[in-house]
Amino acid sequence: MIDLKLTEQDPHAPIRYQYAVEDVLYTGKSPYQEFAVVTNPFFGRMLLLDGVVQFTDRDEFYYHEMMAHVALHAMPSPRRVIVIGGGDGGVIREVLKHPSIEQAYLVDIDPEVTRISREFFPAVAAGLDDPRVIHAPMDGALFMRQFEGHADAILVDSTDIIGFATSLFTADFFDRARAILGPNGAFVTLSESLHFHFEMVRDVQKTLASVFPRVDLYTAPLATYGGNWWCFAVGTNGLDLRVPARETVTPTRYYCGDIHRSAFLPEFLYRRLMEEGRKGF
Ligand code: SAM
Repeated sequence: MIDLKLTEQDPHAPIRYQYAVEDVLYTGKSPYQEFAVVTNPFFGRMLLLDGVVQFTDRDEFYYHEMMAHVALHAMPSPRRVIVIGGGDGGVIREVLKHPSIEQAYLVDIDPEVTRISREFFPAVAAGLDDPRVIHAPMDGALFMRQFEGHADAILVDSTDIIGFATSLFTADFFDRARAILGPNGAFVTLSESLHFHFEMVRDVQKTLASVFPRVDLYTAPLATYGGNWWCFAVGTNGLDLRVPARETVTPTRYYCGDIHRSAFLPEFLYRRLMEEGRKGF
């Protein structure tokens, strides 16, 4: 075993996560980011982009299920979904579990992510060749400007809110998403951790609220994301995502109706989050 220690370079975290590394399976670069695939005795294989953990064999399903299933279960029969980022295929795999899905766009700026996921994370990449998946390797903001038609859900599974991912967190981008969603559509984007990025979470909510008639926030416990109490920011044209509209699709390992209902922030905490100047609850 190589006695390597991997210290994560999370741009916003006040602490550093360190992982033992057994093997380095791959390192490489694309025009967009640096890649590493390593193995850790507890988490198994881990994908890092620019030194930040994206997901691991052991715990990827928590995030991918919570990114896909809350919005989609709040709808009776979602047909068309757009996933921005998520080139590894984890969110797409979950989206495809909904029997009503007819088209799932996968819009990741970097095709190298998909290639690496296929090679090293076949269980995560399992849905990438499904005939309902439409691959659009390009910037998500450009895709949304060019996209014509409606979608039931737009799910943003990007890297942290820095660099080329920042184009996915602007009022213009959110406004484009609002226009693409029908009256019962939903927009969901990751928005960092309530423990470490409280003000950033508030900023995303404020920007969403400047565009969408209804906004909300739910969370999930993610062991390998800085701050662990990970946020999913929601914008809709009126649809309330807090109540699942149907039975849970199978199989899931974490998401279920009870998790869905309990994941949303209680009203009093949401009000505190939105108080200007607050740095925590
Ligand atoms: N679940 C991970 C997380 O929350 O950190 C994200 C996984 S996924 C690998 C992140 C993806 O976002 C990367 O593949 C990256 O290429 C993509 N991405 C970042 N900015 C993008 C943009 N502007 N348009 C499309 N994809 C983008």
